[in-house]
Amino acid sequence: MDVVIKNGILVNADGKTEMDIGIEAEKIVALGKNLSGRKTIDANGKYLIPGGIDVHTHLETVFGGNQTADDFLSGHLGAIAGGTTSHINFCFPNPGQSLHATLANWQQKVRSKSLIDYGFHLVIREESHLEELPMLLEKGVSSIKCFLAYKDTLQIDEELFFKTVEKAKEHGLLTMVHAENGNIIDYLIKKALANQLISPIFHARTRPPELESQSIHFAASVASMLNAPLYIVHVSSIKGLEEIRRAKERGTDLWAETCPQYLFFTEADLERKGHTPGLEHFEGAKWICSPPLRKQEDQMALWEGLRLGLIDVVSTDHCSFHFSSQKTRGLSDFSKIPNGVPGIEERMALLFHYGCNQRNLPMERFVSLTAEIPAFLFGLEGQKGRLAEGYDADIVLWNPNKRQILSVDSHHIQLDYNLYEGFTIEGGAEMVMLRGKIIYANGQFSVEQGNGKYLFRSSYKHSLNHDAKS
Ligand SMILES: [Zn+2]
Repeated sequence: MDVVIKNGILVNADGKTEMDIGIEAEKIVALGKNLSGRKTIDANGKYLIPGGIDVHTHLETVFGGNQTADDFLSGHLGAIAGGTTSHINFCFPNPGQSLHATLANWQQKVRSKSLIDYGFHLVIREESHLEELPMLLEKGVSSIKCFLAYKDTLQIDEELFFKTVEKAKEHGLLTMVHAENGNIIDYLIKKALANQLISPIFHARTRPPELESQSIHFAASVASMLNAPLYIVHVSSIKGLEEIRRAKERGTDLWAETCPQYLFFTEADLERKGHTPGLEHFEGAKWICSPPLRKQEDQMALWEGLRLGLIDVVSTDHCSFHFSSQKTRGLSDFSKIPNGVPGIEERMALLFHYGCNQRNLPMERFVSLTAEIPAFLFGLEGQKGRLAEGYDADIVLWNPNKRQILSVDSHHIQLDYNLYEGFTIEGGAEMVMLRGKIIYANGQFSVEQGNGKYLFRSSYKHSLNHDAKS
């Protein structure tokens, strides 16, 4: 064997074991005792976990004329430092652009910059895209996304949504949905602005949780009618979670995701006062994302949902915009503040520290939420998300005692603020291996641009038995 990792505690979604990991070329080829190889890595009794998979990212994306601060390169640097070795980014077609052309364009953007493995979800914007769904699996794309919010830009109507879920099922694809009622939000925004209500807090006030739960209810009903799988992205509220629970209890093949921002912040953060001269009252813009941050009780319900298996995935919706030069476009109109927050770098550490260390979230569940279920849902089973023979050797040496203070001064992404500034974390990635190669160790990167591989993903496998995977 090329490499053997010894003295580690291996954590998979279904349990912990103490075994050596044998690696040849890019794969794990053996798990056992007393393995020997040309090179030995001593894990010193620390955890070995599958490389994190972040299935919701927006790197190098233009939203409403604003280009995200992070491109694939800076996003991948952050991901690696945080223990994430694969991600799936959203590809947005321009109006009139085919899915085929869109995918080719994004492949081009990432190829020379990639440091970690990457896949793509395609966004459905118009009826003509449906004709292309039968070809997506041949291109390694097993998931698509629809928006029920963002009127006049990304939003599609109920009929097109229905047809998309129907056809996606027929062709082995998983439909993801941003569930918020965009029509009513649009009206509430216009009404607020007409009344001179322009500050960041009105972002939250114009997107009440009822418009999320009502939209989840609609989307889940469609999935249930069609007996089709559906993945609800970034669930943010207790009301939304209630709809998820009901749909799952009815037996709908429904999956739910939340993101760190909803676990740590509330709408009160939109009213924060900052220290940037001239922008003291605009600090809250840093926390603008959609759905918006909610209340304390929503946070508590989401943590409980993670523990109970009501929420299946924690990903980030990483979508970074600089505070001083981009968020400020909404200084006199909250609706013009670019929507999005960072997280690709902090996801694993936040969930480990505040979940495993502070809330008794089992390590196995941490691995299931950050790697194994994402791999299962998005067609990477057998390849990623587990430490097992035949899988890619994507391995993170996780030091539970590594102390880090999150800060804009030390993060690796390209952004002029850190959403989690000052958070003190115990736990972090000490060594990161991607397909058998160490790409990060003790704070040093050893990886070249173009290192990442396109994730050719297989068809969604129906699983009505949530318990088997949760
Ligand atoms: Zn998103």
